Amino acid sequence: MAVYNPKSLKAEEFINDEEIRATLKYAEENKNNVEFIDSILKKARPYKIGNATRCNGLTHREASVLLACDIPEKIEEIYKIAEEIKLAFYGNRIVMFAPLYLSNYCVNGCLYCPYHMKNKHIPRKKLTQQEVRDEVIALQDMGHKRLAIEAGEDPVNNPIEYILECIKTIYGVHHKNGDIRRVNVNIAATTVENYRKLKEAGIGTYILFQETYHKQSYLELHPTGPKHDYDYHTEAMDRAMEGGIDDVGLGVLFGLEMYKYEFAGLIMHAEHLEAVHGVGPHTISVPRVKHADDIDPSAFDNSISDEIFAKITACIRLAVPYTGMIISTRESEEVREKLLRLGISQVSGASRTSVGGYTQQERPHDTEQFDVSDQRTLDEVVSWLMDNGHIPSFCTACYREGRTGDRFMSLCKNGQILNCCHPNALMTLTEFLVDYASEGTRKKGYMLIEEELEKIPNDKVREIARRNIEDIKNSNKRDFRF
Ligand code: SAM
Repeated sequence: MAVYNPKSLKAEEFINDEEIRATLKYAEENKNNVEFIDSILKKARPYKIGNATRCNGLTHREASVLLACDIPEKIEEIYKIAEEIKLAFYGNRIVMFAPLYLSNYCVNGCLYCPYHMKNKHIPRKKLTQQEVRDEVIALQDMGHKRLAIEAGEDPVNNPIEYILECIKTIYGVHHKNGDIRRVNVNIAATTVENYRKLKEAGIGTYILFQETYHKQSYLELHPTGPKHDYDYHTEAMDRAMEGGIDDVGLGVLFGLEMYKYEFAGLIMHAEHLEAVHGVGPHTISVPRVKHADDIDPSAFDNSISDEIFAKITACIRLAVPYTGMIISTRESEEVREKLLRLGISQVSGASRTSVGGYTQQERPHDTEQFDVSDQRTLDEVVSWLMDNGHIPSFCTACYREGRTGDRFMSLCKNGQILNCCHPNALMTLTEFLVDYASEGTRKKGYMLIEEELEKIPNDKVREIARRNIEDIKNSNKRDFRF
């Protein structure tokens, strides 16, 4: 029987089934213990050291108690603290990105994914380099600067060389004032050697969703193909870090298994990365299973309501305060609006989840990976974010300035975000407004930027940011950053 050990490199020891079950029992036993819940909430609250704001985070056991708690006033408090943490570390900025589907060839048998090998009624497609270029131009013309590339797992059709070639192509496209400045990668678990190659190709975050931490369910949901190997999949982030990638993104596909089990596993995974590599996950994504070709989400009987989804998001925010959180266009405008307040720091906009979808006039459905709930244009999403008090940010400065892994975390922890991320957000938003926005969005954005410039504490930084913004408006100079 495997024994729980967060420092172990063996999947069954750091994601230990017995420890998760004990955690769920502990959470059930304590979910009405108000005094204990108050002490956990107290621990989670941001506090000041000098000028800097700090947070303790929570252990997987503590966070699981909060998730199990059904007392309405306590849930309200959890939400309030989640908002405080969000504002303390990420402010009102929301980073924008778009997925780019390279290929839907796949040799796996994932039961929830339309790309599964046995699905014979979706056309299989893999972008040529010219098609990658065309997609990137379409994305640049919307205003995107940050992509997450996606591909099925297929060693013959999508070998690592193909992925590397696509990354090179993407970084090489400079259309008008456009530029893709950060390519995040969401491809199947691979070897240390391949992770090293991805790092050398200049990727931002390596993203891999665990799908489910429950081993038995995992094995059943992935009956065939290389992805069937639970241990290899679960240990992928350790190999990625060994290969030099220090920004990794975790995620669970909610709806496949019991959410409380997944939540405990997710936080344990974050604790494991911190314990072994000294740095937790850069991001956590919270996708829910969606309808897709050949896939009926009701076939998975663990779907979660919008209320539970919000509670999960807030509890993640309390547990891992320095980790960015991502929500995609799988979710509707209403759900996204609520979750943005509770801790989300990155959203996708105007996404097409099909291979080659950005170059087509009409949204194509035949090769879509899942149905998109939020179908607004990027201009509409940007405008909506500003209406709701957020600053859409197209910033990609950190990893290009070498602020990855623990260096990013220390920027976050030392309260330098207002002198660094904030002006970067305002300068990149100006780029978007000048180059791509509609008249209405532009006007709204300029007013917001004027107000937000005043919030930069350091006089010198504020002055430089103001000057750069004028330069962006009056010339073709781009890509200023702190
Ligand atoms: N093929 C890669 C892998 O195996 O990790 C990653 C790329 S896959 C295109 C990205 C993610 O989409 C998967 O990890 C899965 O969580 C999610 N996904 C698959 N089917 C989905 C569905 N029906 N609804 C929502 N998300 C889905």
